[in-house]
Amino acid sequence: MANTRYIFVTGGVTSSLGKGIISASIAKLLQASGFKVTIQKLDPYLNVDPGTLNPYEHGECYVTNDGAETDLDLGHYERFLNIPTSQANNITTGRIYQNVINKERRGDFLGKTVQVIPHITDEIKRCIKLLGTKHKFDIVITEIGGTVGDIESLPYIEAVRQLKWEMPGKVLVIHLTLVPYLSATGELKTKPTQHSVKMLLEAGVQPDILVLRAEKRITTDVRKKVALFCNVDIDSVIESRDVSTIYEVPILMHEEKLDEIVIKKLKIISKQKPQLAVWQNFLKRLKNPKKQVTIGLVGKYVELADAYKSIIESFIHAGSVNECKVNINLIHSETLDNNNMLEKLSKLNGILVAPGFGHRGIDGKIIAVKYARENNIPFLGICLGMQCAVIEFARNVIGFTDAHSTEMSRTTTHPVIDLMEEQKEITEKGATMRLGAYQCNLVKGTVAQKAYQKTTIQERHRHRYEFNNGYLADFQKHGMTIAGINPDMNLVEIIEIPSHKWFVGVQFHPEYRSTVENPHPLFVEFVKAALKK
Ligand code: GLN
Repeated sequence: MANTRYIFVTGGVTSSLGKGIISASIAKLLQASGFKVTIQKLDPYLNVDPGTLNPYEHGECYVTNDGAETDLDLGHYERFLNIPTSQANNITTGRIYQNVINKERRGDFLGKTVQVIPHITDEIKRCIKLLGTKHKFDIVITEIGGTVGDIESLPYIEAVRQLKWEMPGKVLVIHLTLVPYLSATGELKTKPTQHSVKMLLEAGVQPDILVLRAEKRITTDVRKKVALFCNVDIDSVIESRDVSTIYEVPILMHEEKLDEIVIKKLKIISKQKPQLAVWQNFLKRLKNPKKQVTIGLVGKYVELADAYKSIIESFIHAGSVNECKVNINLIHSETLDNNNMLEKLSKLNGILVAPGFGHRGIDGKIIAVKYARENNIPFLGICLGMQCAVIEFARNVIGFTDAHSTEMSRTTTHPVIDLMEEQKEITEKGATMRLGAYQCNLVKGTVAQKAYQKTTIQERHRHRYEFNNGYLADFQKHGMTIAGINPDMNLVEIIEIPSHKWFVGVQFHPEYRSTVENPHPLFVEFVKAALKK
């Protein structure tokens, strides 16, 4: 089916209703029905990408194979669809304006006044259609960030209006709103939904389907009322009630017949009934754990679990494989010290030291590594977490007492982690790290190689510093193994301590590649090792 259809998902009433999960769920159902589907997120803020945003602002920055620093919703898209996204799947207002202004500077507009309509809206439409025309998807689902009524999202809603007009029958708008429950009167209230649909109508967009988020069951009367006030068919008013895991949402949406309605309204023919056996099996194992483990996640953004979204989801996938519930204990690295170390770490079955940037909280991370290493607790260090493992080993095993990363200390006499050669001349912050997927060759017989069960892998990176090869011999002599190497640049990508039960540090981010259908082998094996403890 080359004739691409476009589905837009907008949000009303409040933010954080789960547009990303609804978008991913519809996509999953359509994919399971045999369509080639992708999801895209349009973010209305002015940053060119979220790469320069503090995780407190926007949660985790998700990295794609082609090295784009993107919104964390793209992680959900990949985890649900099990196909990679790319730069084209996340567009911000900053990027749209940058593209338009670059064209203006080149003289592409031939002396015309450059305006929001048509130039900005044309660029938005171009970015939306690119996935259909260039990447040949049957269905492109576009999630529009923010809430309808925000000043920032106006050009996006206008672009949707134009596309609906230009491609009759091929564009569908799904609007997600909140139906609050008033316990005082025991009622579900539809007025906020009516108002937010009015706001869409004022912008010229009639939603085709309404998804109502609610904590109580939506009654037929409520459905009828919403349908009447908002000009939608009653069977297009879909209930989305709160569930214990996001992975249940596709199943609920299927029960609500959302996929059937979308297919009918887009006048497309599905090749098969949704094939959801793998998904259902994953859910069954997830919801019926036979055992449990507790993993300590040591990082400095623990106040906001979204900062470690992909890591937390990877543990959910790995837990399901091992039929075990993985409890995550978020441990603030800034408050971890030698005095409270026992109290905070001794009951854990495994310790993960998280990625991160800058000096804050680094000492706590190094303490966590030392505790894991000395007490034979399964350990996984990711990016900065691996670098901390290298620093700790250099200080406490090799005896380089002031060993450090030059990111934290410029004056260390043992810079065991140092800036990459290619990074030395770079001054700009945005999109200038070592980003995206790189090849890594695994050493036979190592924990990593046994986990992956292959010798060549591709994993995604986001860092400026690396293992300093000048110290390689010292580490090997004292019992650290290099388990993975980048063949092109000879960079150390994986370290292990073979005398330890399970001690692995990776310079890349395995969490970006774990999906429901392909749980990441390192997480699966880490949980397995934790189970044995
Ligand atoms: N700050 C470290 C570096 O840039 C690690 C980055 C990370 O953990 N993503 O190399």
